[in-house]
Amino acid sequence: MDFDFNDEQREIRDLIRRVAVDKIAPRAREIDASAEYPQDMFDLLRELGLFTLPFPAEFNGSNSMLSACVAVEELARVCYNTAYLLVVQWTPFGAILAGGTDAQKQRYLPGLASGALRAAFSLTEPQSGSDVAGIQTRAERCDGGYRLNGGKIWCTNSPVSDFILVAAKSGGEAARGVINFFIVEPGMEGFEIGAKEDKMGARGIPSCALFFDDVFVPEENRLGPEGAGFKIVMEALNLSRPIIGARGVGLAQGAMDHATQFVKNRQAFGQTVSDFQGVRWMLADMAIQTEAARNLVYKAAAAVDAGVRGPELGSMSAIAKCHATDTAMAVAENAVQLFGAAGISNEYPINRYFRDAKVLQIVEGTNQIQRNIISRTLLK
Ligand SMILES: Cc1cc2nc3c(=O)[nH]c(=O)nc-3n(C[C@H](O)[C@H](O)[C@H](O)COP(=O)(O)OP(=O)(O)OC[C@H]3O[C@@H](n4cnc5c(N)ncnc54)[C@H](O)[C@@H]3O)c2cc1C
Repeated sequence: MDFDFNDEQREIRDLIRRVAVDKIAPRAREIDASAEYPQDMFDLLRELGLFTLPFPAEFNGSNSMLSACVAVEELARVCYNTAYLLVVQWTPFGAILAGGTDAQKQRYLPGLASGALRAAFSLTEPQSGSDVAGIQTRAERCDGGYRLNGGKIWCTNSPVSDFILVAAKSGGEAARGVINFFIVEPGMEGFEIGAKEDKMGARGIPSCALFFDDVFVPEENRLGPEGAGFKIVMEALNLSRPIIGARGVGLAQGAMDHATQFVKNRQAFGQTVSDFQGVRWMLADMAIQTEAARNLVYKAAAAVDAGVRGPELGSMSAIAKCHATDTAMAVAENAVQLFGAAGISNEYPINRYFRDAKVLQIVEGTNQIQRNIISRTLLK
């Protein structure tokens, strides 16, 4: 698989690297500390025209998963939350592009591409996260549409969103049922967004519970054909798994950048900490792990761009996500260790990397679920 960067990818990397250092890195600590939504970072990403990056040229995108990974990696290197702003915009975009009707695409995609609209994606419920089929939010048919009842948790971006893609089940009470996505808008009667979670990581982008009390959703707000939209959307979203790996690679690289600087400037036992061989080997191992993860992520992204699909891609993407996010955790943990007590202090940036890395092992399919995908492919 060839994943040499083309000119466009090099330009994206260099542009984001410049902006990241000048404008994003100085904001990262405050976004994490205050847990306030970074509207200024959203505006910056909009100015840079990045909300459409992975998508086709008709939306001014580069139609490249590798380009998307490069952008996310460079952002996550300095600010996980800013990288997250891109990913939360891309998820509903990808879902509507893959599973939406023509009218839905026309109505929502130009706004999502330009940043004029924001959206969120809601599957998880109190009793079912990994077990997607176990959702209990109901969508009962009624005149002209559906009535939604139930509740969701962990819906990221929901309080700032113009609409939310909500998964709900129709059919008999006990059935595993038919799942559809519905476009739910704030202000629909009976729909409420709860208070935001107080999170350990990913603090800048709010995650909230959602409540549905007999919410009427018109038929045209069901994503795609009855019963088929859900499968199409989930398959399309599987294609974007390398992006989560790219967040891990960027995070690991950023943690390593900070740790390297720190040990070069810290003295102990009359010498610079970076002169101890034990410390040098730790840094070397961190670099080896990060570079290996980067190669897996680029390979999976290039495979998506080359049109590889099915179990081969599923396993490759799961390996990339799992390894890159486990690497982010391991590297961030060692980076905190190299900072000594300063690693524990909020005065220094490094424990933010540690906290954000933990989130990555859990979101978008936990790393145990990724291992299930990988072993299923091996054993079939
Ligand atoms: C910061 C953040 C943002 C999020 N944003 C969103 C969002 O925008 N929209 C949304 O829908 N959800 C979102 N989520 C929810 C996330 O997708 C779920 O947390 C995740 O899918 C895991 O589900 P769970 O928490 O219910 O854990 P569970 O599924 O209950 O799992 C508990 C533990 O059991 C393990 N486990 C479960 N099943 C298996 C199995 N078959 N084999 C081995 N181990 C297993 C899991 O790996 C985990 O360790 C977010 C979560 C976080 C932390």
